[in-house]
Amino acid sequence: MKVCKFGGSSVANAAQVTKIVDIVLSDPDRKIVVVSAPGKRHSGDTKVTDMLIACAERALKGESCEAAVQAIVERYAEIQRDLNLPDGIVAEIEKDLRFRLAGDRSHPGIFMDSMKAAGEDNSAKIVAQAFIARGVAARYLNPGDAGLLLSSDFGQAKLLEESYHNLARSLQETDDIIIFPGFFGVTREGKIATFPRGGSDITGSILAAAVKADVYENFTDVDSVYPVDPRLVPEVKKGIETMTYREMRELSYAGFGVFHDEAVIPAVKAGIPINVRNTNHPHAPGTMIVQTRRVVPGHVVGIASADGFTNIFVDKYMMNREVGFGRRLLQILEAENVPYEHMPSGIDNVSVVIQTRHFDEATQQRVLARIKQDLHPDAVTIEPGYALIMLVGEGLYYTVGMAAKATRSLADAGVNIEMINQGSSEISLMFGVRAECRTQAVRALYNAFFDDE
Ligand code: ASP
Repeated sequence: MKVCKFGGSSVANAAQVTKIVDIVLSDPDRKIVVVSAPGKRHSGDTKVTDMLIACAERALKGESCEAAVQAIVERYAEIQRDLNLPDGIVAEIEKDLRFRLAGDRSHPGIFMDSMKAAGEDNSAKIVAQAFIARGVAARYLNPGDAGLLLSSDFGQAKLLEESYHNLARSLQETDDIIIFPGFFGVTREGKIATFPRGGSDITGSILAAAVKADVYENFTDVDSVYPVDPRLVPEVKKGIETMTYREMRELSYAGFGVFHDEAVIPAVKAGIPINVRNTNHPHAPGTMIVQTRRVVPGHVVGIASADGFTNIFVDKYMMNREVGFGRRLLQILEAENVPYEHMPSGIDNVSVVIQTRHFDEATQQRVLARIKQDLHPDAVTIEPGYALIMLVGEGLYYTVGMAAKATRSLADAGVNIEMINQGSSEISLMFGVRAECRTQAVRALYNAFFDDE
């Protein structure tokens, strides 16, 4: 059995939904279909999820949501009209949206998640109708009814383990094609909770693991995963044919938008291969993500990069002799609920790299004051404006001189490396550079490691 997930661009309009139906019907093993909310139809367009968030924000401020509701319903009505589906579905979607809007707003996170989930939920209902209209035995399945249980971290929910058992039971009892909304589940108390943004990938992976699928097909709008962001290196042509889970995890963490980094985990645990494919070119083989692959020493699979990082730099003579220094430093961040990403260190100094979005100005000031007060450093600075570049490949592990080759190419391009970290898995090398040098750095590394392609 195959679990297929279709992203927002694959449900953006009627023509795309038709492609979904065709793709699924072309292979009898495709039994479970996970869908996102309708995405952008063209570059200036707005995703339904963003429309829902804006609508919920207005509601929370006590402002009128009428125009927003009309605009959201119209996105579904357009699909319904163009596919000639029964009009009752649009009335049902509008009723659902108004019901959510009329819900309790005393906990903004709960209210927001219920609104956000409407995008996927109604997308799944309309896609199920599209299958039924083609005479196919298909049905929408609600994540709550299927037992997809999540923690109460609204907007950042995590899977509760018993979900696997529940889902296996709900999904295996049927011959119908199941259309399942991505992105959300319910808490034990029955509240709707969503994964982080882009989380329909996570739903697909969980379902694939629950039913022990032969493969998890993740349909998006590119032919394959590219070794580097084509916006930064437009000349990149050749996609990645096969990569390992570990490689994908490292790359998707640092800005490979094609696949959600958290979505790798359920598939890894269950050993399900992931196939990233293109809804618009369904015959292209796409990229396979698997447990192991034949590794060519020295071969790099991809270069990812992301900006929006802040570096806390702490310097103290004899830091290496001060037992508990690192723990106390991280405790200060923990007390502020700030997660850290990397922690490269020297003998007398340490950097802690943080995503700037978790670290507002007021928090920075409190952290700075506490570091000074509790750790008595010789110097401490907090500097925003960093980008991280990750060079990833199983081939790094086997090869001497990879770091030298990378640093030489960065030096030749005039990029100053502010930080270097080699992951203990030895399949990634992280470079911290000033954000303004990001493109230059990525291009330099691309030329050094992919010059033959
Ligand atoms: N619709 C959600 C988002 O825009 C989830 C997803 O598409 O995967 O983040």
